[in-house]
Formats: sequence, C-alpha cells, structure tokens
Amino acid sequence: MHRNRKLDLEGALIARDRVGIQDFVLLDAYTSETAFLDNLKKRFSEDLIYTYIGTLLVSVNPYKDLDIYNKKQMEIYMGVNFFELPPHIYALADNAYHTMLSEANNHFILISGESGAGKTEASKKILQYYAVSCPSLAILDTVRDRMLMSNPVLEAFGNAKTLKNDNSSRFGKYMDIQFNAQGDAVGGHILSYLLEKSRVVHQNHGERNFHVFYQLIESGEEDILRQLGLEKNVQHYKYLAQGECSTVSSINDKNDWKTMRNALSVVDFDKGDIEHLFGIIASVLHLGNVHFERDSKGSATLFGHAELRWVSKLLSVNVQVLQEALTYRKIEAKTDEVLSPFTVDHAIYARDALAKAIYGRTFNWLVNRINHSLENQDPSRKTVIGLLDIYGFEVFHVNSFEQFCINYCNEKLQQLFIQLTLKAEQEEYEAEGIEWEPVQFFNNKIICDLVEEKHRGIIAVLDEECLRPGDATDLTFLEKLEEKMGHHPHFVTHMLADKSTRRSLERGDFRLLHYAGEVTYCVVGFIDKNNDLLYRNIKEVMHHSKNSIVRQCFPSTETEIRRRPETVATQFKNSLQKLTEILMAKEAWYVRCLKSNDSKKPGHFDDVLVRHQVKYLGLMEHLRVRRAGFAYRRRYDVFLQRYKPLCPATWPHWRGLAAEGVETLVKHLGYKHDEYKMGRTKIFIRHPRTLFATEDAYEIC
Ligand code: ADP
Ligand code: MG
Repeated sequence: MHRNRKLDLEGALIARDRVGIQDFVLLDAYTSETAFLDNLKKRFSEDLIYTYIGTLLVSVNPYKDLDIYNKKQMEIYMGVNFFELPPHIYALADNAYHTMLSEANNHFILISGESGAGKTEASKKILQYYAVSCPSLAILDTVRDRMLMSNPVLEAFGNAKTLKNDNSSRFGKYMDIQFNAQGDAVGGHILSYLLEKSRVVHQNHGERNFHVFYQLIESGEEDILRQLGLEKNVQHYKYLAQGECSTVSSINDKNDWKTMRNALSVVDFDKGDIEHLFGIIASVLHLGNVHFERDSKGSATLFGHAELRWVSKLLSVNVQVLQEALTYRKIEAKTDEVLSPFTVDHAIYARDALAKAIYGRTFNWLVNRINHSLENQDPSRKTVIGLLDIYGFEVFHVNSFEQFCINYCNEKLQQLFIQLTLKAEQEEYEAEGIEWEPVQFFNNKIICDLVEEKHRGIIAVLDEECLRPGDATDLTFLEKLEEKMGHHPHFVTHMLADKSTRRSLERGDFRLLHYAGEVTYCVVGFIDKNNDLLYRNIKEVMHHSKNSIVRQCFPSTETEIRRRPETVATQFKNSLQKLTEILMAKEAWYVRCLKSNDSKKPGHFDDVLVRHQVKYLGLMEHLRVRRAGFAYRRRYDVFLQRYKPLCPATWPHWRGLAAEGVETLVKHLGYKHDEYKMGRTKIFIRHPRTLFATEDAYEIC
C-alpha cells in the first residue's frame, strides 16, 4: 500500500473540521430517524453529499457539479485509511481495491437507489478513479481507455430522457473490472439486463427515445445523413416525435455525438461496423414512418414505399420479401405454406415488433462487441471488482410491464442486501467470538415470492396465460391473478379492494405494495410484451440480410428451432437469479443513492422525499444492526498504529502481539470492562463516545 502518513494526518484534521457526523455509527441518537435526517441535511447544505454507515456509503444527489471529483482529490484518497478522510465515493472504491489486493478475493459494489438518485454517475466516478489510481503498464492503457469509453457508447444506445431523469439508464448493467496480482486493470466484462425496447416505438409525453437517434439526426455529418436517407428534422420521424420533447436543456446531443463517435473508435469498431450500426439506427426510423391503411377486404395495405426501400437498402434485404413479411403472415398448412393477410392492427404490431427486435438485438450485439474489445490479455491469476448499476425503482402516472420488471429487479437487490448485510454481520460476530443481539428487519422476501414463486407467482400466472392457446387477454390475466393471489397482503385490485381503496383503482389495474411504496400497474400490454412475438417470416427476412450485424442478430438456428422461446419475464427472472449467484460469491460494498428532490433542483433537500427513501432503503435498520452490539470495530494492528502515541508502553513501538498492545493501550486509557470486547482479530467498542474520547486525546497529543 502506498500509504502516506502526512496525508493521513491532514485528512484527520479535515475530517474533524467538517459539519455533522461523517459516520452515522458514531451518532449518539442513532435510533432517531430525525437525528439521522438532520445530520444528512446539515451535511448536504455544506455540499457534503457523502456520509458513512460503517463501510456503507450514503450519497445524496446534489444536482450540481461539485469540485470533488478531480485528480487532486483522487490522489488524496489513494491508499489512505477509510475512516481518516471525509467520506467519498473514491474512499469506498479505494478500500474495495486494496482489500481485493491484500485478500486476493473478488468484490462487488452494489449501487442502488431510485431513478435519478445518482447511481450511474457514481459508477462512472468509481471507474474513473480506478483508471487514474491503479498502476498501469503502457500496454494496458488501451484496456483502461476502452473500459472508460464503453460508457458513452452504451449510454447513447441504452439511456433516454424520462420524467424522472434526463439521462435514465433503460438497461441494467453489471461490469467486472479484472485486475492482475499487481493490481493492474487487465480486462473487463459487461453483462446487460433487459433493455426497455418498447421505448423504440413509443414514448410517453415528456420523454424521449434513446439518445442515439437524436444525436444522429441533430449532429450526424451531412454525407452520413445522405447515405442513410435521413432528414435533419427530428419531427419528421414518428418514432421520435411522440414525446414532444426532442430537445432537453441538460442534454447536448452535438457534443454527445462527438464523444460517442470517438468512443466507438476507441472500443475498436472499424468503419464497416460503424456503417452497419448507423444503417440499423436509420432503418428503425424509416420503418417507423411506414404506415398501413385498410383496404376494402379489411386487410392492411402498406404506405410509404420510399421509406420501405430505405429500410431494405440499409438492412440489405429484399424489398418485396420485406413488404410481404409486414403485411402477410405465413401459416403452415399440412403440406405447404399459406399466406394470410394482416389487418392494419396486426401489420402495425409486426412493424413495431421488427423495430424493437432490430434495436434490442443490436444493443446486445454492441455489448458483446465491447466485451470482445475488453477481453483480458493477461493469463495470470486475476481478481475482480464488479460494479452493479441497474435501473432504479420507478413509479409513473401509468406503470406498465417495464416498470413491473424494473421494480421487481429492485426488490431482488433489496433482498440480496438484506441477506448479505444480516449474514455478514452475524458471521463477523461469530468469527470473532462476540455475542450480539439480533435486530428486526422488514424482510421483502414476501414480495419477491409474490412475483417470482414457481407456479404461484405473478410471473408464473402471466406465463400460463401467455402459453394458453385461444382467448387469453390482459384482462383474463388479471382475473387469474385475482383468483390466485386472493387476499395477499401485498397485492390488491379493484375487485379485491375495500371501499376506500377501490376508488383509486381502475378495473384493469393491479397494485403491489413494494418495499419502496405502492405501485399501480396497468395490465394493458402485459401479454404481448411478455410474449415478445416476432413472426417467423420476419426473422427469415432478417437472417438473409447482408448487413453483417443484422445477420448475426438473427441466426438461422432461431427459425429452425420450433420450441417456444422463454417469455421475457421468465428470461429476466432467470438472469436475475444468475446475477444473484454471481454477487453472492463476492464480498459486498454498498453505495445507497438518495434523491434530494423531485425537480432536479440544485442543492434543494426535500425532507419528506429523503425521509421516505431512508425508510424504505432500510438505512435505520442497517445502522441498528451495525450498532446492535458494537458501534465500532477495528483490526488490532490498525487501531494500535493510530493510537499508540497515547500510551508510553506502546509508543513508539510495541514489540509483542498487536492484540496485547491494544489491550495495554485501552487499559491505560481507562476503558471500562463492559465498554469493549476483544475479538480474534479486532477490537469491538460498544459506544461511540468511548472512541470520541480516544480520538480527542489523540488530537491533543
Ligand atoms: P440514476 O442512474 O440513479 O438514475 P444518474 O446517475 O443518471 O441517476 O443521475 C441523474 C442526474 O443527477 C445526473 O444526470 C446529474 O445531473 C445528477 N447527479 C447525479 N449524481 C451527481 C453527483 N455526484 N454530482 C452532481 N450531479 C449528480
Ligand atoms: Mg442510471
């Protein structure tokens, strides 16, 4: 460790000059929510957005740029003891890194909080910190740059403006940063989770499609736009104009376009890749402008042949075959195939399904391609730090299948947090041979079960309806739910509700009482979105594309296999299960992001909003667990190193075992028998005031 004594001392002084208490564990009135919030608010008003609960970092979104994320700040935190400097995301990143190196094991940093709370910013800051602080060999610079540059690419394709956040992540992301034994970053790997594809074809008022579309139209060079047949007018495109907010004051599409273009070359995309990629983006826009009208027989007639020609040109597929696939369905009869014409609704459905499929699959291709460029070149032993930045809990005026999946995911992460923090704490006391009193938690397992339980959960019921041949609709799904869930304490519908609740529920709604609050979901679209059907002839057309990306995205195996693919919700459930297993095998670090206010106002602290988040994130319980037995614990060697000047027997050197040195030291300081316990490797101190007194003595000496 490149530890710097001088910095430590300076840090300690800074830490004590600051406002409020920098670690809630040291808060005297630690059971009082009001005291908790007061401390948070006091610090926030001084731009101190970070506070610890032990090693957990609480962060409150300031909605303004603070001068705490520069190289100089990074250097202050490098290799310095966690608790000697003011809390910072860099301190957490640094601590995780050094623990990984010294213990040679794997770690992950779980960043959670609702939409707009600052998760993505936090994850970027951690990555930047590693990019600067880790020692680096010249050949590894490329890996480092690629890791950094994967962000602008994935954000352009996977983020969008929503009502909650101008740069909202519409996919989940887990990124492993791989280090060799010397601590060099040698590679990376990204797993992405369920992109919100429906946004490609539909956006609510005040929201946008994915950033990349606007970047291309607003800032694409003239010759590129010409080659793609695009007009420099966002309003011209149906898939972009619905939200009626194509320009956003906080977003600079021009600059972002430049950054993204540059990033694409850093992550090693060649000219051909880039051409095909933008061809796909443009084809989606053209496809959105293809429309249909009803002919005399009630079948769909396609309008917008110019657009269709552009689609076929950009995707390199045959125009007639494409048109047929958008207006007819191929039905397999006994010996041959029959074409059955679509109604207008069906044709629109097929068109939108194609647009979503092309975009969604291209996004996955993009992630794979980036992974390829991040592949580890160093075969030696490696350990990883995983960064998890997933879409936050969200509640809109109308909530659909997408919110259901997103909120379920947050429910799972909360469950993981509960398991790991309780487990970790219990195990630590056990390992150290210390007795403790357990703390009561609200365990959200009941809600996870309600959603995911085999045969009985909401996903199982939904799948059953999706697979049922015949007349399954969103409403029959709702009825099945009512039948199965009955009077579950976390589930209610119009029919099941008592009089007072009933007024706030429509017939097509169901309401879940999530750990973070209640959310009313409208069932419309659940069946379609969960099935995510793409007609087989459309897949065949795409498979014959000459655009290399499209061809990879629609492999022939898919049209050959007749087995029904897993539904979207089930795939998502399984991928979350895998993620849980990945995370459970690692050491956890937590960043809990809080939203300071709902209107993105700089420096404004909305008491009610913050209190609500503190409640549902279980921060008070977490604090209580940390304090249940002992407020403070420190490894013997670390404790002795810091406080040895306070005792003549330990200063300047203690020759014996660190534990004995600590015992001598605290006895000299007059610690009473019941104020502390000696564990196997650590000293545990019951009350913070004991430590404060010691810290004060240290200050004076
Ligand atoms: P989330 O990923 O949790 O939905 P983001 O990380 O995208 O939220 O943050 C939303 C917005 O809040 C950012 O675009 C930025 O304007 C602001 N923000 C978040 N964290 C910080 C920070 N540490 N400092 C300044 N502004 C921040
Ligand atoms: Mg985000």
